[in-house]
Amino acid sequence: MTAPVTVLSLLVEEMNRGRITVVDLTQPLSPETPVIELPSMFAQSPGLSVEVISNYDDNGPAWYWNTLTLGEHTGTHFDAPVHWITGKDRANNTTDTIPVRQFVSPACVIDASKEAGQYPDYILTREHVQAWEGVHGKIPAGAWLLLRTDWCKREGKEAFLNASEDGPHSPGFHPDCLRFLAHERDVVGVGVETVGTDAGQAGGFDPAFPAHNIMHGAGKLGLASLCNLDKLPPTGAVILAAPLKIVKGSGSPLRVLALVPAA
Ligand code: MN
Repeated sequence: MTAPVTVLSLLVEEMNRGRITVVDLTQPLSPETPVIELPSMFAQSPGLSVEVISNYDDNGPAWYWNTLTLGEHTGTHFDAPVHWITGKDRANNTTDTIPVRQFVSPACVIDASKEAGQYPDYILTREHVQAWEGVHGKIPAGAWLLLRTDWCKREGKEAFLNASEDGPHSPGFHPDCLRFLAHERDVVGVGVETVGTDAGQAGGFDPAFPAHNIMHGAGKLGLASLCNLDKLPPTGAVILAAPLKIVKGSGSPLRVLALVPAA
């Protein structure tokens, strides 16, 4: 008697044979992990701090564990709709109530690495997305739109945040592009390599911080500080991105994995 062949048994077999690989889209999380810096009139989010509870010592002779202190939006992390005021009254808008089906979703990856490498304030527009669709097909409802910029390859906090006197400079989305993605394509959310889903200069956009304002207002999700997007195909990968089940959580650090078919 052998177990029946199912889509899931085939998936496992394909992974065993290396025809589907698991790619880690997560940055290492440490006290050095950079966190978004807000203008000084606002409260700041702490990065990670780690305090040892015991380390096979008098405090616990056979066990090692730590206490973590960190903001919900630290490192590779998930943004829930409740994170922004526009999403605060939506149903199922917190990390513990978002339907878990959304945590397993296909990905469309737009490569703007060349453009962002030349111009850090690069903004993805509706026209860019439509040009991508002309080559790769229409973005299906329920897919992640992941913006590859190779920003994760910037080493050190200063290069990653890329701030000057007039604020941070990093790539992101035009408001019109986000309305298109949310309302005309019904994506599950947007994911980026930068510290947050909005462009560095997005505080001056209309509306301010549109990747938060528009997407969360439409009940969409966010993923920030992703890496290894250069290892994903434009279409065909499936993203596993489940935040911690924090009650009333606005987001959480998480491990983001992609199932990727071999080329
Ligand atoms: Mn966030």
